[in-house]
Amino acid sequence: MAETHFFEQVNKNFDRAAAFLKYPKGLLDQIKACNTVCHFTFPLKKDDGTIETIHAWRAEHSHHKLPTKGGIRYSLMVNEDEVKALAALMTYKCAVVDVPFGGAKGGVKIDRSKYSESELERITRRFTFELVSKRFIGPDIDVPAPDYGTGEQEMAWIVDTYKAIDPSLNAEGCVTGKPVGLGGIRGRTEATGRGVYFGIREAVSNKDDMKDIGLETGLEGKTVIVQGFGNVGYHSVKYLQEAGAVIIGIIEYNGGLYNEKGIDIEAVDKHRKEHNTIITYPGAKVIENPKAMLEMECDILVPAALESQITAENAPRIKAKIIAEGANGPTTQEGHDIIKKRGALIIPDNYLNAGGVTVSYFEWLKNLSHVRFGRMDRRFEENAARRMLEAMMVLTDRRITEDELNRISAGADERDIVDSGLEDTMITAYNEINELRKFHDTDLRTAAFISAIKKVGHIYERMGIFP
Ligand code: NAD
Repeated sequence: MAETHFFEQVNKNFDRAAAFLKYPKGLLDQIKACNTVCHFTFPLKKDDGTIETIHAWRAEHSHHKLPTKGGIRYSLMVNEDEVKALAALMTYKCAVVDVPFGGAKGGVKIDRSKYSESELERITRRFTFELVSKRFIGPDIDVPAPDYGTGEQEMAWIVDTYKAIDPSLNAEGCVTGKPVGLGGIRGRTEATGRGVYFGIREAVSNKDDMKDIGLETGLEGKTVIVQGFGNVGYHSVKYLQEAGAVIIGIIEYNGGLYNEKGIDIEAVDKHRKEHNTIITYPGAKVIENPKAMLEMECDILVPAALESQITAENAPRIKAKIIAEGANGPTTQEGHDIIKKRGALIIPDNYLNAGGVTVSYFEWLKNLSHVRFGRMDRRFEENAARRMLEAMMVLTDRRITEDELNRISAGADERDIVDSGLEDTMITAYNEINELRKFHDTDLRTAAFISAIKKVGHIYERMGIFP
């Protein structure tokens, strides 16, 4: 069966959901369309003095809310179709979790391992310059973030370049995922994986849903295989392991690790940092065909690397009872339908990996308000709780230790507030789409699209089409 392009895949999922709603075709076409996409080419002077032409894209899918928001990835697979698809997914994802942004995405077509640190810096700074000159970046226009192949360092170069060109009051809000010292927020690096964990935890806590797929509730003892041990993959399985799940497989591009008794995630991470690869880690069996590991027996499979990993070709052999999509677009519609027919639960990307953009939203709010969360009220809260506890001790004539007093009365710092906002967002959105799933007798992906189309469509309806 022929598989289609990524943007077409996203639109096929959109169309399936739109069939449940009564919006006019013209309005649905407008919601689906990618509003703007720009292809940049610029020169890189390499360390050896040669010049290379770099290709990059930025797509702004929907301006129904501003700014637009979405990561920048560095990958050889980047092309116009991919950034448009990923930008569209961002629009729907933001709507699902009620983050008030339109969707965007950017990408630079490079294999980052082939460039030195200073070449990567020049590429990132020049791309930022191009984005500024074409008005594709700004705290009120379009706000990038990390994605596949990028992280805090690239975001630091972006904010520094942007501020050099536009040193305005809110300039720090031009990008999220920055280091804390440059206006970042505590909890952003791990946010997507932490959100994946909250989403899976919520799904497995539903007794009826678990009964339908032949699983007990709770994470304790559930076996997990993860594809991709980068930012999203590592943090997802770290929190799943802490909650009692058993990580039996880790798949990387150059091989996989397998141990049915469980793999110590922190030890693998340490090994990777020391040796630059996971596959020489001694505590697990090395599997040479990484893709085949997707088909191994497990309760939860977390694809957290790239798109189009579960397709019509391999879906019939995939045995996991839950597919938890950490990556964007890891399952094609054909793959999805095969998995669904088998009765497995797919927790879709357009909900499950929204933790990153949710905490990016908190970071952007912090940048615009120029104050760290918790700074104004933490001490006040602590003192109030302490006075209450002391009064109770007098009234009941019972004493607790100073340590306990401190623990119980501790006020929330920035990390606590971010974590609680993220947890609440993921739980609320899960239950919202699960209700829609039941109401329309469909799957979670379609339900998430229904939720998004309703929210974006409502805005178009209210504002009309100009002029
Ligand atoms: P990353 O670059 O930190 O990690 C990707 C990992 O996947 C790397 O370890 C890489 O070696 C591995 N990988 C590459 N090709 C592979 C293959 N064929 N098989 C197995 N592993 C492979 O990227 P990331 O930020 O973790 O992003 C991963 C996915 O999650 C992407 O689809 C991205 O769009 C999505 N996502 C990321 C964020 C975020 O905040 N970083 C937010 C939402 C969605």
